[in-house]
Amino acid sequence: MPPQPDPTSPPMEPILDLRLSATLDPADWGPVRTVGRQMVDDMVGYLETVRDRPTWQSVPAAVRARLDEAVPREGQPLEAVYDQFREQVLPYATGNIHPRFWGWVMGTGSATAMLADMLASGMNCHLAGYDQSASLVEMQVLTWLKALMGFPEDASGVLVSGGTAANLDGLMAARVAKAGYDVREAGAFGGPPLTVYASSETHSWIYKACEAMGLGRRAVRSIPVDGDFRIDVDACRAAIAADRAAGLRPIAIVGNAGTVNTGAIDDLRALRALADETDLWLHVDGAYGALAALSDEPELVAGQELADSLAFDLHKWGYLPYEVGVILTRSPHAQTATYQAPPSAMPAYLQSATGGISTGTTYFADRGMSLSRGFKALKVWMAMKEQGVTRIGKAIQANIDQARYLGGLVDADPMLDRMAPVSLNAVCFRYLAKGLDAEGLDQLNREILITLQEEGVAVPSQTILGGRYAIRCCITNHRSRAEDFDILVDAVRRIGARLTGPAEALR
Ligand SMILES: *Cc1c(COP(=O)(O)O)cnc(C)c1O
Repeated sequence: MPPQPDPTSPPMEPILDLRLSATLDPADWGPVRTVGRQMVDDMVGYLETVRDRPTWQSVPAAVRARLDEAVPREGQPLEAVYDQFREQVLPYATGNIHPRFWGWVMGTGSATAMLADMLASGMNCHLAGYDQSASLVEMQVLTWLKALMGFPEDASGVLVSGGTAANLDGLMAARVAKAGYDVREAGAFGGPPLTVYASSETHSWIYKACEAMGLGRRAVRSIPVDGDFRIDVDACRAAIAADRAAGLRPIAIVGNAGTVNTGAIDDLRALRALADETDLWLHVDGAYGALAALSDEPELVAGQELADSLAFDLHKWGYLPYEVGVILTRSPHAQTATYQAPPSAMPAYLQSATGGISTGTTYFADRGMSLSRGFKALKVWMAMKEQGVTRIGKAIQANIDQARYLGGLVDADPMLDRMAPVSLNAVCFRYLAKGLDAEGLDQLNREILITLQEEGVAVPSQTILGGRYAIRCCITNHRSRAEDFDILVDAVRRIGARLTGPAEALR
């Protein structure tokens, strides 16, 4: 029986001592409800009207100054903070949700996933594992993604922050599987130097990853590409043989399913055969290209399903808000073999129990670097269920078709020069002008790109192909329509003519 109050002592005053009770919950939930509803309304309206705004605008000096304040020691009402967000933060975004944003490889997100992120933050689940619905949701989406990518049912997978993290995880697994010694115990210094093979078009994550793994940048063997920017498989074979002969220890071949520059897709089946022939791990970077598996033309990325590990983003061509990437490994054990602590080193505070919340293993924390993990899976689950994979696949197909459409506009226009094949959803081109040398054309196109962005018409980005400056559109945008590409081409012609003077415009 709990102790009874002594009837002779005075009744206790409620304790209002902030040292003993200092919750951050509001004293009155009313304003949270009101402002929260307003936020949902505003953000739905913001998405609904995105086409009416400029693609991008620079942050004005006055706003920059307001976003450089002293530490806010005392709080203010939520309404006031939200007002500042509405006036100074919301209008000056990257612009990637706009229908005419095709720079770098950015995603557009979706309304459903936006709402899911709010729900996930409210639940604030810890996704190391545990007996909870959120773990089942992550397992569920991984099962779906494995099926969609043609991976075996018992393959391993985990959601991560993005393509860089997912690709690093792929090489981490390769390193454990193919180093030939206990690399987890001995580190990079337990045997011969480890090397990896990837085309010269591979994204710069590979250098970050090799630096992070302690292999150094020199571990990356940059293999030349053919005229279509695909890896030269014979050159790759020769490089592996030469390194082996020199006493190095090759561990992995990295194939690209959609290079960042031009969307080139390596011959992944040939790379699989080469990996088998040389007993190496095949990792495929499908950061955005892997999603072509959901289009009507999955053969574009044929062979990615044969990889030992496949990395891809859902925040690019999966149209989900940042951040969410995926790493799958064919072997059910490759991820735990890489990241799970050996039994002798399993810390007591992380051991699983026979009942209660830590029943079972801490699945996800054993499959990757992160221990504290958020509920990214919810937006994947809700968006896939609400949109349906067929509809997502149609949006991906539309982007592939739009790239061909834009390529056609470029080819039909004598003032424009297409600089790479349209192999997936990327189009690289430039504006031509008479009387300009190569340097002059580079400079002209650099200025055209800046003007396009600053006018807010459209946001392509840039790259260098064969030493020459290219305007580059990578279409991972479910809001783009055919007319948006007409607008782009018209703007490029108009700006190009203006920058080169009236004589050129009259040509
Ligand atoms: C974007 C991208 C990456 C890096 O992925 P993040 O999600 O930005 O970390 C790697 N490879 C390719 C081909 C990409 O397009």
